[in-house]
Amino acid sequence: MKNLRLLALSLAALLALAPCSFAKEARAAQLFAAVAGPSSQASQPIGSYSRGCGAGMVELPESGPTWQAMRLSRNRNWGQPVLIDYLIDLSQAATQAGWRGLYIGDLAQPRGGPSPSGHLSHQTGLDADIWYTPPPRLDLSAGEREKLGAMIVRTDDQKSVNGNWTASHMAVLKAAASDKRVDRIFVAAAVKIEMCKTATAKDKKWLQKIRPIYGHHDHFHVRLKCPAGASSCETQTPTVSELSNGGDGCDETLTWWVTTYLDELKNPPKKPSGPKKRGPREYVMADLPKACKGVLASD
Ligand SMILES: [Zn+2]
Repeated sequence: MKNLRLLALSLAALLALAPCSFAKEARAAQLFAAVAGPSSQASQPIGSYSRGCGAGMVELPESGPTWQAMRLSRNRNWGQPVLIDYLIDLSQAATQAGWRGLYIGDLAQPRGGPSPSGHLSHQTGLDADIWYTPPPRLDLSAGEREKLGAMIVRTDDQKSVNGNWTASHMAVLKAAASDKRVDRIFVAAAVKIEMCKTATAKDKKWLQKIRPIYGHHDHFHVRLKCPAGASSCETQTPTVSELSNGGDGCDETLTWWVTTYLDELKNPPKKPSGPKKRGPREYVMADLPKACKGVLASD
């Protein structure tokens, strides 16, 4: 009897000591989140926006003359050099719209990859969230950057913009979308509807890059194209041109978001049952491009 108990105890100890051989394979999100700095490799986005990682990423400085990075504790102010350049340029452009600059939310983790919380994309260092808040000041302390909430520009019923929306928001988004480096920008449908209403007929082409999506009522999400020569970077399909049949996307596909979509939120249609697909937060390293192992292992 005593021997049996001893055997059970030592077995338990063995299991505790050797979690790798018995536990589930580690999730990529945990592995990427645990690394504090970038890989010492040439800069390169690898894979797709929602299944990839970033080599040789660069940090967006926490503060600059026309921007502040928010929620510094998340350590997600990292991106490809092209993204950092773009954000700094856009923060300067925002001053033309009368803003002091920009409050910039999450970019990517130091080596990109899936993150344990928040975004499903933002994995290659080409995505960034920008707050709708026109910065009242650009000397927020680290503590203030944790606590301050982003400005919400949409009504609670999700159908239109609220009183926080201004012409300067439109100007900042137009500057953001008109940049050649941008692939698309995600905003709440109510925001795009408002922009479709107020843009002049002659000057609507840039609206093609503004894409409606759920959420995104307190920030807009900029996604850059794969930079030239980035052979491991996967372009997103369908393109914004395909999605809008070459137009500006101010059509019934936009109306869907404030009609059928909202109805289905209240009365969700029954989904066909079947095995649940693994999402980015559950990815293991084998789900990512092979080169991401090297990114994780690099100095
Ligand atoms: Zn985002």
